[in-house]
Amino acid sequence: MTECTNIDCGNESDLYLCRQCISDLQQWIDKGRALIPDMTATIYRLDNVRQAPTGGGGGLVTGSKPPIDLAALELRDWLTRMHDSTTYAADQMAAGWAWEIQDNVRRAERMVSGPEPEGVDHAAIREKVENIAPPMPTRQLLPFLREKAGIVLTSQHIRDWARRGHLRPVERDPQPTYHPHEVIAAWHRKEAS
Ligand SMILES: [Zn+2]
Repeated sequence: MTECTNIDCGNESDLYLCRQCISDLQQWIDKGRALIPDMTATIYRLDNVRQAPTGGGGGLVTGSKPPIDLAALELRDWLTRMHDSTTYAADQMAAGWAWEIQDNVRRAERMVSGPEPEGVDHAAIREKVENIAPPMPTRQLLPFLREKAGIVLTSQHIRDWARRGHLRPVERDPQPTYHPHEVIAAWHRKEAS
């Protein structure tokens, strides 16, 4: 084998995922595992974030106890069964697993925190970041944006956007670097579309 099987990656790799994609995937897995304890409240509807479903499907409910959220229960079990990313890297379905893990972790995040609060001023964040942040390689960019702007991206997002011309590297050698505010702008356009 010579190439990472993740969509649009193509890095050299002896496994089904390259080192970068293994590391990205592990971040998602860690994030998913961190959400597991918080999902209990969602399952038993102890929080006010989730509304009980309207009409039918509640199953047998006795007394005044709220029904449990079966979707949240299933999802929590699914997250509990996740392996480390190195295990998936040896599986020929690795790219599919990576996709499913990201999808489920995002779903768990929405269950725990509810819809994204409105009124986040992305333009102001972009401006702030523009004034302070030099171009940086993806490796630095991802933690930087997570910390400064609360935006969680994978290196695959960056590669995709660069490949499609949504994002222009500042330098290409020895590795591509990007202006953080341009990445935020690209992310914002994606969110809006
Ligand atoms: Zn890869």
